[in-house]
Amino acid sequence: MRLKSVDRRIQVCEYECMGQTSIPLESAVERLLERTPVPNEHETVSLLDALGRISYMNLKALTDAPPFDNSPVDGFAVCHTDLSEASADSPAVLRVAETLYAGDGPIGSLVPGTCVRVMTGAPIPPGATCVVRYEDTDNGKAYVKIPVSLKKHQNYRFQGEDIRKDHGILCKGESITPAHIGVLAGQGYTDAPVFKRPRVGVLSTGSELMSGNQPLKPGKIYDSNRYMLGAKVRTSGGEPVFCPNVADDPETIAEALTALLKLCDFAVTTGGVSVGDRDYMPLVGKILEAEPVFRGVQMKPGGWITAFRLDSKLILCLSGNPGAASINFDLLARPVIRRLAGCLQVLPRRIRCVLQKPFPKASESRRFLYARLEDGGVIPSSTGFVSGSLGAVIGCNGILDIPAGTPPLSAGDEADVILAD
Ligand code: AMP
Ligand code: MG
Repeated sequence: MRLKSVDRRIQVCEYECMGQTSIPLESAVERLLERTPVPNEHETVSLLDALGRISYMNLKALTDAPPFDNSPVDGFAVCHTDLSEASADSPAVLRVAETLYAGDGPIGSLVPGTCVRVMTGAPIPPGATCVVRYEDTDNGKAYVKIPVSLKKHQNYRFQGEDIRKDHGILCKGESITPAHIGVLAGQGYTDAPVFKRPRVGVLSTGSELMSGNQPLKPGKIYDSNRYMLGAKVRTSGGEPVFCPNVADDPETIAEALTALLKLCDFAVTTGGVSVGDRDYMPLVGKILEAEPVFRGVQMKPGGWITAFRLDSKLILCLSGNPGAASINFDLLARPVIRRLAGCLQVLPRRIRCVLQKPFPKASESRRFLYARLEDGGVIPSSTGFVSGSLGAVIGCNGILDIPAGTPPLSAGDEADVILAD
């Protein structure tokens, strides 16, 4: 693996001249997804732990929900025909035959001319066709006066009106939400089959990097990408696998990456992808004899993003600039992780929005810019652009996609926004 006497820079240049030119974002994502296997590994987790996980199976309703006709209000279950003549001057007077609480079992049929006091959730007895709310009666105990007439099935909750037995409630490849968990729990499920989380390697490269919890040395910075990307791996449905930071040395990076790949399904690195003297990631790909997937994407920031494949696993090398790495990750790494996680919907959604504030710079190349969706419009995260800036990303929930050749944008202009929170 050691490089012998050859000048490393020359090798970097050779690699860059392999006829590869930067490609559009959509082509890059396509190349990555073409090389991303659909998973099969799965496990069963308790319902609460299924939150945010990807369903491994189509699940059907086991019963009707609700499982029996019941009252949506506290009131009196009656037959609506007994109220057809009722008015304020001449209320219907019905004998209260019984009281039913939520949790009580069903009773026999309603006798005409009588009613049953029911609490919300109590079964409605056969023969009753509607429920009169307490507040619309005199709330009498032995007899109740009802001065209103009701339509058939007014205030009436039917068996199966929410969910019918055997209807699909969760699809394979769908992300499990709190609503799914509520519906599953209402069906008696206590756990759910989900895809295993893919393991995603995270490697920060750069001789300037230090771990936190120790005083910064002159010229050094704390490694923020490691934690930011680890967090993004989690929100994308993966489990991060960390590798200790490595200095800008191609052999050391190649060794670290080889070890990391043994522990993960996909790896993301930061730093060293540009054309500086110590930007070694293209050379690392060469040392590892990895298949080049692409070198450069037509985007700003993070346009030098580079991808390889080794031992059928993708390696995505992002810019070290945290703001650029963050956008690179959202647009290119997240779809891969979502696919590896079993998710059917891997690409982010886009909407068209009106700018609430101007963006005063022209965009010569295609520009992606974090933004905040607010009040039916979108606010750019900054007025200028600093690719290293991460502070401006806080509070953002979208990415403006500004086409190449766009002049400065004014408030009121329309733009595409990729949803990314
Ligand atoms: P590079 O992509 O290696 O040229 O780095 C670009 C910029 O990002 C430089 O200012 C680096 O110091 C900074 N940088 C690189 N890696 C990290 C990291 N892991 N955390 C924070 N900043 C970084
Ligand atoms: Mg660097």
